Parts: sequence; C-alpha cells; structure tokens
Amino acid sequence: MAAGKIINEKSLTFLEKYLNNPSPTGYEWEGQKIWMEYLKPYVDDFITDTYGTAVAVINPDAKYKVVIEGHSDEISWYVNYITDNGLLYVIRNGGSDHQIAPSKWVNIHTKNGIVKGVFGWPAIHTRDKAKEETPKIENIFIDIGAKDKEEVEKMGVHVGCVITYPDEFHTLNKDKFVCRALDNRVGGFMIAEVARLLHENKKELPFGLYITNSVQEEIGLRGAEMITQTIKPNVAIVTDVCHDTTTPMIDKKKEGEILIGSGPVVSYAPAVQNKLRERILETAETKKIPFQRLAASRYTGTDTDAFAYSNGGVASALISLPLRYMHTTVETVHKDDVENVIRLIYETLLTIKEGETFSYFD
Ligand SMILES: [Zn+2]
Repeated sequence: MAAGKIINEKSLTFLEKYLNNPSPTGYEWEGQKIWMEYLKPYVDDFITDTYGTAVAVINPDAKYKVVIEGHSDEISWYVNYITDNGLLYVIRNGGSDHQIAPSKWVNIHTKNGIVKGVFGWPAIHTRDKAKEETPKIENIFIDIGAKDKEEVEKMGVHVGCVITYPDEFHTLNKDKFVCRALDNRVGGFMIAEVARLLHENKKELPFGLYITNSVQEEIGLRGAEMITQTIKPNVAIVTDVCHDTTTPMIDKKKEGEILIGSGPVVSYAPAVQNKLRERILETAETKKIPFQRLAASRYTGTDTDAFAYSNGGVASALISLPLRYMHTTVETVHKDDVENVIRLIYETLLTIKEGETFSYFD
C-alpha cells in the first residue's frame, strides 16, 4: 500500500464535504453525521454519547480494545456583547486567533440558520500612525449590517450564538490541502480512511477497533475525557495536527524542526507510552514510511493526554500531521503526509496482538 494511492475520488469528496460543514466546539453533531455516513459500510456498529462524540466500532464483542482517534470540533467565537448601534463583541470558543479577524467574513449560527457578518476594522486613513492598534480580543467586532441592537435581535442573533469562518476547501499546487478546520477534521478523515482500507483489504483484527471522533478538544480535551471512560480501551493511538516550523518567524530552538511533506510526526512526551511509540517507529521503518520526531514538555496538549491518564493508565501514542498556519482560515497540509499518517496507523494496527500489555516489565 503506497502513498499516492490511498485517497480516491470518493474519499476526497467526503473530505471536502466534511470540511466545508461547520462543526464548532459544542455543536459538532452535523459533522458527526457526515462522518458516520461515510464510515457505515466499513464498520459493525456505532456508539454516540450525550455531548456528541461518535465512535465507529469493528468487532464490538472483543474484550481487548484499541482506539484510533481524532477530534471533530473546530475553533469558533461566541457573541458576547451587542452594542446599542448593533455591533457584536466576541469571546473565544477554543483558541481562535484575534490577529487574523479584521476583514474576515463570518457565519453566525442562529436557530433560523446562518446570518452573515464581517469583522470590521478602522480604515488605514483614520488610524493614528504613531500608535497603531493591533487586533485584540477587546477591540475586534462584527458588523452584521444592523442599525441597532433591536435589529440584531430581530435577525435572530443573540449572546451565545457561535460564529465560524466560511472558508472552504481548496488545493494549492496539486498536493497541498488548504482549509479552515483541517485541525482536526483531517484527523477524523484519516482514521475513517484506516477503517475503509481495513475493510477493502479484508483485514481481520484480533481485537475491537474503536474509531473515535471526539468532541470539544479545542477547549481542553473534554470529549476524549468523556469517551475514554465509556470505551475503557487498552490502547489509544491519537492523531492531531502539529506545527510546520519552516515558515517565517517561528523559532526552531523552541518549537523543533518540522516540515510538511516530510512525513508523520511521532511525539515523545510523558503521556506517550514508550513501547507503543517504539512499535509505531519500527512499523514506519519496516514499511518505509517517512517520519519526523517531536518532543513535548509535560503535556502533548492533544487528546493523547486524556486517553493516557484515564482508566488507571491507557497505553497511548500520538501520530501528528504537520500543518502550516494553525488556527487560521488557511491551514495547510501536504497530501503525502495525510496518506502516510493513514498508512502508519493502518500498518501499526496490523502489528497489535490481542491482549498485548506493552508492559515495561515483561
Ligand atoms: Zn486546534
């Protein structure tokens, strides 16, 4: 199974549809429905929980359980305050970037559907050149074309409405995928592709496989915290995005050296179980899958931490997809990396034996 041969027309159509659908933290269910619809032919069963996490299951009766996981939510804003003249101030729902807001279109999610808006900004002519204001959470604002607060309310917009960017999927120079929310909709895509390949290649696993698309990662790994208690897995292989550090103004001494197109990124961190990580690296070497290494101090900041530190300790590891411009509307990944993450998860799963403990003491 070689890179360049995994993503087909059907899977690309799914990725595009899944990305273009908004899935803000706390409101992930429409995206989960698209994801489950795609997975249906490849799995035996589904689990969903109260907050919207979705799990596709292969071999639901098996005692020994392996999770592969990505997260389904995307960063967004909340309407926080409406001025008398009808402008909206916002707070974050996840790590939304105030610096990129001015002059962006937005979709405000209301009961009656999407209301369009724009992040306004004072014109260059009207600004004090001696002390230019930078965009901050306190000074960015949305204009929805309403003349006052009353009209805002009539349009169905109120405090607590969530706001996403409308930016959709594009391809850059044939092999780069660009979209808002590739973090981490592409993770849900990659684990779904693993399930498809297992099915199409008629691979029988000796364990239960729980393909998990967690909600609420962006505000602190909450969906993973919940679902790991439900599944009680023996092993968890998590995938998320990490930073390409080769574009301007990123300090490699601080962030490490990671480049899109150079392969999946395997993390070293206390939450990563060493024997499981070594299995992933050995698999990469045997199957000639390129990889890069990344070290995390204390926390990985991904759902890996939530799985690792649950249920008395779950052998967990993190395979990341390098990405440029995280939490902007032009997140960029390399298609080869997407395929190689899929390959690495797939090939690693095929090495795991029923009942394996990954113990340091055997
Ligand atoms: Zn994120």
